[in-house]
Amino acid sequence: MKERYLIKPKGEVRLAEFAPDDCGGMNKKDARKILKADKKKLRDLQAKLYAGQKHALLIVLQAMDTGGKDGTIKHVMSGINPQGCQITNFKVPTPEEMAHDYLWRVHKAVPEKGKIGIFNRSHYEDVLVVRVHNLVPQNVWSQRYDQINEFEHLLSENGVYILKFFLYISKEEQKRRLQARIDEPYKQWKFSRGDLKERAFWDHYMEAYEAALNRCSTPWAPWYLVPADHKWYRNLVVARIIAQTMEGMGLHYPAPEPDLDKVVIED
Ligand code: AMP
Ligand code: MG
Repeated sequence: MKERYLIKPKGEVRLAEFAPDDCGGMNKKDARKILKADKKKLRDLQAKLYAGQKHALLIVLQAMDTGGKDGTIKHVMSGINPQGCQITNFKVPTPEEMAHDYLWRVHKAVPEKGKIGIFNRSHYEDVLVVRVHNLVPQNVWSQRYDQINEFEHLLSENGVYILKFFLYISKEEQKRRLQARIDEPYKQWKFSRGDLKERAFWDHYMEAYEAALNRCSTPWAPWYLVPADHKWYRNLVVARIIAQTMEGMGLHYPAPEPDLDKVVIED
């Protein structure tokens, strides 16, 4: 799965050639079993990551509105120990954040060693929404791809593993999900007219996503393009890739104190 959905470094992915409703020939029932097993793996691996305090894992989630960032966090991470996990939502920058460079708030939110950090949106907004709406001039945002690669390289050289997921939904699926936010009372709080405004820029966003995926998928911080029209498949792909990555991190519990078998605990 890692290979299948990995964006190759300096890739030339065209989103239009990729099916957001792909489900890898799998059915929902089998997927549920695999997801369950992967979630158990994640729990065990996270316990070792936490105990070892040697590495951190940063998971970046990006998607169009309704793309499933919140749902992915809920379904994939629900088994793990909350103590070893931190989630950061990146919103429109505050005045204080705006007064700094765009990576300032991001660097502060990078997980410490032993932890898994999840970015619900990220520094990629600074080459997505910012690019689409020209919130800064082109000559400023166009330098950011290289800057981001270097920033992520610095993190990776300092013990942070990075995985980036673009949850890719179709425009039709977004329409269905937005409609559900209008129709279903328990989802209405999520509906924002602003999302309709952004939807009108769909093609511009796809262009901006293509640039981010192709220019910023690196050996040290790969992008994965996740077909996300089917929520169950999206969850499976993300969980699989995180589990496979953590398995490759060589995690183990630290060695215990010597001579534990000679320890006697007095009554
Ligand atoms: P939500 O994730 O639905 O709560 O919305 C957060 C909003 O903040 C989205 O519309 C993002 O595009 C926006 N946002 C996040 N980061 C930035 C940024 N660096 N500059 C401008 N808007 C941003
Ligand atoms: Mg929203």
